[in-house]
Amino acid sequence: MRSLDDTIAAIATPPGEGGISIVRLSGPRASTAARGLLRLGSGETPELSPRVAVFCRAVCPGTAEVIDEVLAIFMAGPASYTREDVVEIQCHGGRAAAGAILDLLLSSGARLADPGEFTLRAYLRGRIDLVQAEAVADVIHAETADSLKVHETLLEGALSREVAGWQEALGTVLVHLESFLDFPEEELDLKGGAELVAALDEVAASMAGKLETFAWGRTAREGFRVAILGLPNVGKSSLLNRLAEEERAIVSPIAGTTRDTIEVRVNALGAPVHVIDTAGLRSPADTVEEEGVFRARRAAEEAGLVLMVYDGSRPLGEEERKEALALIPGDKVLAVVNKADLGRVPEEELSELFGEPPLFVSARTGEGVEELLRRVRDRAWAGRVPAGGGALTRLRHRESVRSALEAVGKARELLAGGGYPDAAASELQRARRCLAELLGWGTPEEVVDRIFSEFCIGK
Ligand code: GDP
Repeated sequence: MRSLDDTIAAIATPPGEGGISIVRLSGPRASTAARGLLRLGSGETPELSPRVAVFCRAVCPGTAEVIDEVLAIFMAGPASYTREDVVEIQCHGGRAAAGAILDLLLSSGARLADPGEFTLRAYLRGRIDLVQAEAVADVIHAETADSLKVHETLLEGALSREVAGWQEALGTVLVHLESFLDFPEEELDLKGGAELVAALDEVAASMAGKLETFAWGRTAREGFRVAILGLPNVGKSSLLNRLAEEERAIVSPIAGTTRDTIEVRVNALGAPVHVIDTAGLRSPADTVEEEGVFRARRAAEEAGLVLMVYDGSRPLGEEERKEALALIPGDKVLAVVNKADLGRVPEEELSELFGEPPLFVSARTGEGVEELLRRVRDRAWAGRVPAGGGALTRLRHRESVRSALEAVGKARELLAGGGYPDAAASELQRARRCLAELLGWGTPEEVVDRIFSEFCIGK
């Protein structure tokens, strides 16, 4: 267990060159340690008043040698990110100044913070719950404005409030059940029982609705996987470059050059999408290609959407026809005819094979690419524009809600079946434990550790 008594320090800005860097301190000695190396122009040590930016210099305490001009900001606990005293020192960007300031703070008794330790303290001190702490990491990792919105909603507490609402509703039912249990000679009267069942139904419906948000909440966090499949030379790599709007995949006119899979992150009109370009589906000519084809199939299996790409300038080959027939359940596959600038030759046959007309695009001219991005985006968000209400963004969220819902369902059946208030009560207690764990109360330490290990240093 980490100590909460000491003062931690870290550089909060990413390594590398930039306008400014920020060194952050949190803990009981934050102000003292910072003041130890801050000097005004007059040579005096500045007072640090809460929420006032002080322009001063960071100096080596022993020699008074100036390291950099800085702005120091003090936030007195509990009105701070960690609920402890926090000081942020803004110096010039780059490694040198921030590194020197951090070294001085560490030699004056502060300890280097672990990744995510500032946020861990905010969580352990009860300023935020575990769902909000996770959202902090997800906000930092968000790839598009829309996925940022999803995580900001969780950070602001939307999901936490809903979970708390369920807990309260279950708590009310529990109180009723426990009063029956206290007077076992009284029967659970029918009217009372029906009301409790109705209350549980309401909670269960709300939980079931929430479980559906995982379809797009997961996209916000992990990105939506799209695999591009098709024979060599149909233009898969060119299409990928078009989607990514940069030359990241190697485009070559020689069949079979994309032997490995290439993954490129694409902002599909707001949806974070990971497009995987594969080796194509041709029967392998050598073992390197065999491995490539194997990976292509695996990429297709793991993807949320498969773009099956065809060449508009020529009729379908035998292999393409076979592949189209063998394809993975229809709704995961979108038939795309590339090189539409050259023709739409396989249109009729593909419409017949897929039961709907293919989408025509040209990686060369850009025709149809916007429509393709739109379709990818709609799949990625599972047809929902991410807005309002907290989405379940992690498997952990889904598992907790699922287990809680299962327990509520059992309690409901027990009550509807004419009684068993003690068994129903224990199911409801289990449901409440699942929800508490979701919010971070009683969550196993290894789960908490895993969550905070994803953070960067300084957050
Ligand atoms: P891959 O093997 O499926 O990845 O195909 P490539 O992306 O390497 O493209 C194969 C060839 O088709 C290259 O010569 C590309 O320039 C060409 N090509 C790709 N897309 C288009 C397109 O939309 N129109 C035309 N006319 N040529 C294209």
